[in-house]
Amino acid sequence: MRPTDPRRRLQGVTKTTQNTFRNPVDAYAQPSFPEQDQSAPGLAQDMSPTPDHGEDTYVGSGRLADLVAVVTGADSGIGRAAAIAYAREGADVVLSYLPSEEEDAQQVVALVEAAGRKALAVPGDLSQEAANLELVDKAVEAFGRIDVLAVVAGKQTAVEDIADLTTEQFDETFRTNVHGLFWVVKAALPHMRPGASIITTSSVQAYQPSPSLLDYAPTKSAINTFSKALAQQLAPKGIRVNVVAPGPFWTALQVSGGQPPQARPEFGGQAPLARPGQPAELAATYVHLAAPESSYTTGATISVTGGMPTP
Ligand code: NAD
Ligand code: MG
Repeated sequence: MRPTDPRRRLQGVTKTTQNTFRNPVDAYAQPSFPEQDQSAPGLAQDMSPTPDHGEDTYVGSGRLADLVAVVTGADSGIGRAAAIAYAREGADVVLSYLPSEEEDAQQVVALVEAAGRKALAVPGDLSQEAANLELVDKAVEAFGRIDVLAVVAGKQTAVEDIADLTTEQFDETFRTNVHGLFWVVKAALPHMRPGASIITTSSVQAYQPSPSLLDYAPTKSAINTFSKALAQQLAPKGIRVNVVAPGPFWTALQVSGGQPPQARPEFGGQAPLARPGQPAELAATYVHLAAPESSYTTGATISVTGGMPTP
């Protein structure tokens, strides 16, 4: 289904908003998917089927009114779904992404602006410390503060044999997923007031690692434990820290090397719901954790896995 479709037909249900009652089993595309390949980081707009990031369906209700949100990986996938929802909930949004993702990113800029909010696009490579500092500097220059820091950017490249896993890749995965998180949080904190919150993105891979993700899976465990330590450190300052742990989601990362090519057609079929999640199905989780109403929620992990068990 194309994201431009004004309404989505689901087994006789016309989905008009994220609140439309529906059966989760067949609410979205089920495997098998067409074979496809892109070079990393990939573009959402070139995927088949195109992921649903809530473009046509997410309706806000002022839950993040006048907040300033920084979202990394905001051009596509889970980060795009969070960025769209944040804007429709009333936040201005700073979008971080890689320079090669400009086309995807500009679509999100347009969606944020269509929601009546300000968008600031800051391309850069967050595996480099300087890019994290620049992201925070530009956000603060434009908006004066950061109220929500959603760290969604991540690198995942499947390699089936440790003999083929290069030191360069191992290093790059850790620098993007773990060092980048440390750098952006450290830079942002002086600009966050009590009530602000940080949301990090782990994975079911922290608990059920795939044999081909020897570098990626441990970065997701590190994100979990970093976030839980940070939540305790920042609680007295009134800044909340929470983790989202997704299961299989239909995003560019998976079709640009995150899964081996032979695994892509059946992607998500192993979940009890027998399909991958769509990024739109995570939007509410990122909103819930950012919203002031969640003032007692810190140090938590919300797993959204289509039923795959997590601790
Ligand atoms: P995605 O490819 O749409 O988003 C990942 C984004 O990370 C990219 O768009 C890119 O902008 C950003 N990124 C990657 N390397 C970067 C770098 N060096 N500098 C700056 N930005 C960089 O895929 P997604 O699945 O939406 O991924 C979002 C997050 O969700 C990642 O942290 C991923 O590990 C996590 N996750 C995804 C799944 C899944 O099945 N898709 C499952 C669990 C966790
Ligand atoms: Mg992308």
